[in-house]
Amino acid sequence: MSSCIKKHILSVASEEGIKMYPDNVVEFTIPQLLESLDISKEALAKEVKELIGREDLRLNDAYQTIACPSCGSPDPFVKLVCPRCGSGNLNIERSKVKCMNCGIQTDIYEALSFDCKTCGNTFNAANAKWIKIGTLHATNAIDIEEIAKTLKDLGINAKRCMAVTGSSGIIHRFDFFFETDGSKIAIDVAVEKDGVNVKDLITFILKAYDCRINEGYFIAVPRLNISVNYEKKGIKVIEGHDINTASDMLKQILIKNGKITKTVH
Ligand SMILES: [Zn+2]
Ligand SMILES: [Zn+2]
Repeated sequence: MSSCIKKHILSVASEEGIKMYPDNVVEFTIPQLLESLDISKEALAKEVKELIGREDLRLNDAYQTIACPSCGSPDPFVKLVCPRCGSGNLNIERSKVKCMNCGIQTDIYEALSFDCKTCGNTFNAANAKWIKIGTLHATNAIDIEEIAKTLKDLGINAKRCMAVTGSSGIIHRFDFFFETDGSKIAIDVAVEKDGVNVKDLITFILKAYDCRINEGYFIAVPRLNISVNYEKKGIKVIEGHDINTASDMLKQILIKNGKITKTVH
């Protein structure tokens, strides 16, 4: 499971980067991934942390920002209030403030007050937390975004790393999965410079069989390492010399099979 999720995270990050808050990944991470990945937020955060740990994801353009000490959310509302009585009726002069309510005079820093937009916690500059935020980019990712885009363009709402329970009771993951007219359609994508190991195809066939997949597409880029002429019971192998070619082939096949209702541009 984990390898499928990691592959998709890295693929997304290789194209546009992932905006995130590494000190608090559980709460604030990767909305565009969560939309299509069949995984919980917490599990996704764990995968991201692991990828950062082994430097498959690197933080670029990082900067420090203030965050809520309670929940870690950045970007709180800022206001100035009297640190003694809480009044907002202040007279501000340069870096000094004078409370018009209780009369205390203090540094502006002392009067800074933050309201967390996420949990509602109120905190001040002294107990605020500083976090580093930025964009995560993948190093050496297998970029399969072209497949995701093709499906989207066809009006298909496919889940990524979809977990499907087979009749054996085993949970299998497919890179892309969707249902249309009561048919289950699964796609796996493998990219291997010297040819995709045919074992991966066999695994796909077994998974597809166990899960009663009606149409299965195994995409091998640039090809399988052994020439196989496998076309059986709804399983099709697509070999394309690059991911764009393979995506295009998949598109033509899906259109031809009449699985697409939307007009394609
Ligand atoms: Zn006051
Ligand atoms: Zn908070």
